[in-house]
Amino acid sequence: MSSLKKYNFHFIVGSQDLYGEDVLKTVNEHAAEMVSSLNGDSAVPCTVVFHNVVRNSDEIYKAVTKANGDPSCAGVITWMHTFSPSKMWINGLKALQKPLLHVNTQFNRDIPWDSIDMDFMNLNQSAHGDREHGYICARMRLPRKVISGWWRDETFRRRMACWMRAAVGAFESRRLRVLRVSDNMRNVAVTEGDKVEAQLKFGWQVNHYGVGDIIRAVDEVTEREIDAQMKEYKQNYEMATVDLDAVRYQAREEVALKKFLEQGGFGAFHTNFEDLQQLRQLPGLAAQDLMRLGYGFAAEGDWKTAALCRVMKSMTSDLDCGTSFMEDYTYHFEPSNGMNMGAHMLEICPSIACEKPKIKVFPLGIGNREAPARLTFKAKPGPAVLATIVDMGDRFRMIVNDVICQKQEHDMPRLPVASVLWKPLPCLETSAEAWIYAGGAHHSVLSYGLSDTELRDFAEIMDIEYIHIGSDTDINELRKELIINDIVWRMK
Ligand code: MN
Repeated sequence: MSSLKKYNFHFIVGSQDLYGEDVLKTVNEHAAEMVSSLNGDSAVPCTVVFHNVVRNSDEIYKAVTKANGDPSCAGVITWMHTFSPSKMWINGLKALQKPLLHVNTQFNRDIPWDSIDMDFMNLNQSAHGDREHGYICARMRLPRKVISGWWRDETFRRRMACWMRAAVGAFESRRLRVLRVSDNMRNVAVTEGDKVEAQLKFGWQVNHYGVGDIIRAVDEVTEREIDAQMKEYKQNYEMATVDLDAVRYQAREEVALKKFLEQGGFGAFHTNFEDLQQLRQLPGLAAQDLMRLGYGFAAEGDWKTAALCRVMKSMTSDLDCGTSFMEDYTYHFEPSNGMNMGAHMLEICPSIACEKPKIKVFPLGIGNREAPARLTFKAKPGPAVLATIVDMGDRFRMIVNDVICQKQEHDMPRLPVASVLWKPLPCLETSAEAWIYAGGAHHSVLSYGLSDTELRDFAEIMDIEYIHIGSDTDINELRKELIINDIVWRMK
């Protein structure tokens, strides 16, 4: 069963008393059949829950507060099979605390040309019932997604699934606790930000612990626990070093960090190489393996990227797609073949590897500690996105770039870290200019399972600014968008 099936979406079907019991019974039957079909479709990753058609203001309010109070409910889906006067919806929609998807669909696909009569028309009138519903949502300025199409169509279901993933991201975001080990890297601006505002907008509880707390946990790890962790490393990775003492130290760090994360209910964490104190190695392999397990991670005190990494992993936790903390590292400016090489000092998630990762030990030029063990590998080819969140002072801005990860033809025998090679859209130069004009960070999250669609919906649900860089990006239009956004967001 998909790991996203634990998230419920309440399907609220609107009508009114005008039509009589027979029509309402048919509406209920149709809705139940639709829900059962959606739940049986592997393309729909989450669970859809239907209670009963709602006919008046009280029933609508009750249905909405029921969804609000359901701890597994990640969103509400509304649909008007018949006409449901939307002043009846005002109280309910005012109370709504969950992301909203309005589907404009119809039980039947085709008009039954030979038998159509006014009974049929009165039963199947979402064409205008959903317009009445759309008006009240627009009038109330509700953030929402509208998807129109026949409910059995693959495209319609795929679009529904994308929105569900965005809502799951919002759900996990609102309960996310982020463990800060130390502070931000000294003097770096883009990894800073307003943590109170982040909690208000995203729900992230970002809390700091001193490195001493981690060191104590590291010291308490037993040899037996290290042995068990080493066994896992040997199962998942190729041991390509004889320096097992260095690897055992990463195992010790991982066991300690995992306990700390579990005990505090944290879903994401960061480190800072400038503040290691008595830690013998910067967590490299340890951080990489924890990312593989689903934890969000970022380096250098970057709590925003660590949190985003966790959120994006949670949106695709049912897929074997690959999501990692990432950093733009080095350009390849070959004419008509411009590429960007992403890597980090150590910490790239093995979920994006195209080969069995190797455990190796190399010295680290910075941090003034022992040579850390790390996983080295090449990332797989394929379409992906890079996403980052920056604090603009009066708002958060998410920037997303579509990229095509490339097969890495060169061996790069002297490169001691995992690497990704991508062609950003529309091209290296325009993508880089757009990202830089928008103030995008050097840190980001790379995902092979998400696209502009899910991340745009996520940004709307979280009420943050969204900038997309893709195949149709024109640099002058993008600069204009940034200027207009600045005015709009200051007025909000
Ligand atoms: Mn970095």
